[in-house]
Amino acid sequence: MKVGRLGPGGVVVAEVDRPVLSGGDLLVEMHACGLCGSDVEKVKGHYAATGKIGHEPAGTVVGVGYGVTGYRVGDRVFVHHHVPCYSCDVCRAGRYTFCPTYQKTNLDPGGFAEFFRVPPENVSRGAALVLPDHVSFEEAALIEPLGCCIDALAALPFQPGDRVLVLGLGPIGLLYLKLLRVSGAGLLVGADLSAYRREVALREGADRVFDPRTPEGVTEGEFDLVVVATGAVRAISDGFRWVRRGGTVNLFGLPEKGSHLETDLQDLYMKGARLVPTYAATERGTNTALRLIASGRLPVRQLVTHRIPLARIEEGFRQATATEGTIKVVITSGAPTA
Ligand SMILES: [Zn+2]
Ligand SMILES: [Zn+2]
Repeated sequence: MKVGRLGPGGVVVAEVDRPVLSGGDLLVEMHACGLCGSDVEKVKGHYAATGKIGHEPAGTVVGVGYGVTGYRVGDRVFVHHHVPCYSCDVCRAGRYTFCPTYQKTNLDPGGFAEFFRVPPENVSRGAALVLPDHVSFEEAALIEPLGCCIDALAALPFQPGDRVLVLGLGPIGLLYLKLLRVSGAGLLVGADLSAYRREVALREGADRVFDPRTPEGVTEGEFDLVVVATGAVRAISDGFRWVRRGGTVNLFGLPEKGSHLETDLQDLYMKGARLVPTYAATERGTNTALRLIASGRLPVRQLVTHRIPLARIEEGFRQATATEGTIKVVITSGAPTA
């Protein structure tokens, strides 16, 4: 079978054996797997985490291991790649995605594969969600990124009515913006360098948008919450400038390894603003994401701008780094996913 993985100089398509099912596993035939900004960073060599790529997969169960209950061959599923242990100190503190076990769990060989094996810890901790018939595979490929936004927002002191600024309007920034809209944000403003993405943000529910290079009309201290949905370090300093006294800046986008924050710490001290990093999703986030998508309350279909077959995955990675005309790239098995 084909698998897209990190190779010398970028992403490559390799032929490998299909994973072998054993007790406690599920075997899934991939139909759609979202391409995440963190996959792009891994290919560029900027992200220190696991070398595996592809973590937003949806497909059909083709094998159910001995002892697994609750799943049948033919079930349409979304599968989450990481699960926490739910028993260590970090988990007991509710910071599940920072659990030391979390990043050690993963799909075999990853989400960009014709077939992947879901290991017993993922299966038993509820990482595979059965999709209602009306939720398409490509919509399901947005469950994980939306789940990251849901778990992030739950970790913040957000209240309905809050004035929120989202810096960075890529796929994840736009999902976050849509979530903030349905969660009752009072004022919702978006910023991105790309005029195209600013237009899309207005269509998806932003009250206003601006270009961060020319932030006319934005006042210092205007926002209760600033979400930094980009890895650009500059955006974090901007966030501290635009957040109100006692407000929150959510470090949500992945900063490049080795990047440093330059900000006036005395300003920060006197402002009492906090920086809250949030990372990834748990089963709580993915389940809520699926319910929001399935109910039609948070439609995601329009964010998928490109569907590219696994055999041409390199093209998908090229497309994902383009901003004009591109929001979410989904890698497909080649069969219809919509
Ligand atoms: Zn992702
Ligand atoms: Zn744990």
